[in-house]
Amino acid sequence: MITDSFKHKGLRRQMIDYLRTKGITDERVLQAMNEVPRHFFLDSSLDVLAYQDRALSILCEQTISQPSTVAFQTQLLNIQEDDKVLEIGTGSGYQTCVLCKMKAKVYTIERYKPLHNSAQELFSLLKCRPKCFFGDGYLGLPYYAPFDKIIVTCGAEKLPEVLLQQLKVGGMMVIPVGSDTQTMYRITKTDENTFEQEAFGDFKFVPMLQEKKFR
Ligand code: SAH
Repeated sequence: MITDSFKHKGLRRQMIDYLRTKGITDERVLQAMNEVPRHFFLDSSLDVLAYQDRALSILCEQTISQPSTVAFQTQLLNIQEDDKVLEIGTGSGYQTCVLCKMKAKVYTIERYKPLHNSAQELFSLLKCRPKCFFGDGYLGLPYYAPFDKIIVTCGAEKLPEVLLQQLKVGGMMVIPVGSDTQTMYRITKTDENTFEQEAFGDFKFVPMLQEKKFR
């Protein structure tokens, strides 16, 4: 049985202090990340590394984003209680769980079945209740749109127009765009067909894949 020991809690607190030094000031983000046991989302062999600021391997040759990136993307979204949030790339489920702890209503899509399945087991263990979908995040979730916020946790070659359509007016999308490395963008929908774009430095994500056979 996986447990959240005093050692893990201590390491997590150190991670939060570190995130503060990295410019994370949204206390709700820091509190949520202090609550979510990141080591639950990793293979037990990676347990000791879970609270370092590193991206680590998960199933299907994917990675869990590094804590500073999770904190940065979440902070950019200015998450409010009851925000309806769409996440593209459930992966381990860690980011999803952070959003749930902030009391957002989370809809998350993953294209690899083993990740989709293992994340759902962790959500019930940690008492998170996101709506989980298996499929291509490029299409978003038209049936559940519009969303207050959209977070893309894989690198998109270009901005997916379909996702912008699924934002509410006043809503925001945070997305890394680029092929080898990505620039983090925050797009705000200011009117039905008007968007404002801000850029926030370079990151490295696993690619957002399109039209590949789903597993
Ligand atoms: N938020 C995740 C990050 C995982 S890495 C976490 O906290 O662990 C990004 C994830 O995006 C991978 O699991 C990958 O399979 C998924 N992904 C890539 N392209 C996708 C697409 N088109 N639709 C849905 N998920 C996608």
